Amino acid sequence: MGKINKTVIITGYHCNNRCQFCIAADKRQLHNKTTEEIVAEMIDARKRNRTYLELIGGELTVRQDAIYLIKFAKKLGFEFIAMATNGRMLSYKDFAKKLIGAGITDLIFSIHGHNAKLHDALTQSPGSFRQLMQGLENVRKLRLKRIGSNTTIVKQNYRYLPEIGKLLLENDIKNAEFIFADPTYGGVYNNFTKLMPRISDAAAYIHKCLDLVNDRDDIPHWHIRYVPLCYFRGYENRISELYEKKTFHTEHLAPDFQNFDVENSRLGISREKPQKCKVCKYYNLCEGIWKEYLRHYGDKELTPVVN
Ligand code: SF4
Repeated sequence: MGKINKTVIITGYHCNNRCQFCIAADKRQLHNKTTEEIVAEMIDARKRNRTYLELIGGELTVRQDAIYLIKFAKKLGFEFIAMATNGRMLSYKDFAKKLIGAGITDLIFSIHGHNAKLHDALTQSPGSFRQLMQGLENVRKLRLKRIGSNTTIVKQNYRYLPEIGKLLLENDIKNAEFIFADPTYGGVYNNFTKLMPRISDAAAYIHKCLDLVNDRDDIPHWHIRYVPLCYFRGYENRISELYEKKTFHTEHLAPDFQNFDVENSRLGISREKPQKCKVCKYYNLCEGIWKEYLRHYGDKELTPVVN
């Protein structure tokens, strides 16, 4: 099977949460794309035979034109129309109904804690967990089939990853992505020591969370993103970047940048394999670790795999 051509349109960075680790923390005031700009990008993407559209922000659901954009994407014939969301607006049943009626095929909820105390502290938005859970319940009742999740792993939540994983399973999420925080820009760059966990501390908890679905044939995707492979021997089939390289050819169209080869450009720009990695048997598969991580913590935690 050929790769799926995926276009990710970043519509702007306005948002109703204020996540501490947000990669776009310093971009919130940048230009939000207009409806016409997004429509033009969708038309162009279809002309280039893109079949998978993902709309992300900021938070798309706070835009007045959110429903219109989904309807327009459906009319253009995208096979998949996905949206990442903090889920708060979906707590309004009427809005959830309209969004699903417009033709969204995939909703990816950002879930950063297993309870309100942890999630709301990370989003810096009291009430955001309660609204997120209500939003999830609404879309489940509306029988949307493809419900996914993103969880950003930071110092404050890594110990609770197994509990977060259980919460996802209780909510019928079968497509989960756990993301080791990206310190290249934004919140984690600005507050590195406060937020960035050490991989040597977090790995055991990530393993426990991944292991929750070892015997579940009905879970198609339960993956970890942005980690060095030396901590994930035996989990090679659960590494997002490896899956992505096999499955997608992705482009990112943002207000402030465009990247037409996402899978192949990360290494070299923001991630690095230090000198010691040269002898590692994973060298060709692995993307190493964030450059910014190495700048703060050094490479002592990385252990080349030689047997
Ligand atoms: S290449 Fe480097 S970072 Fe990757 S698994 Fe090997 S030692 Fe770890």
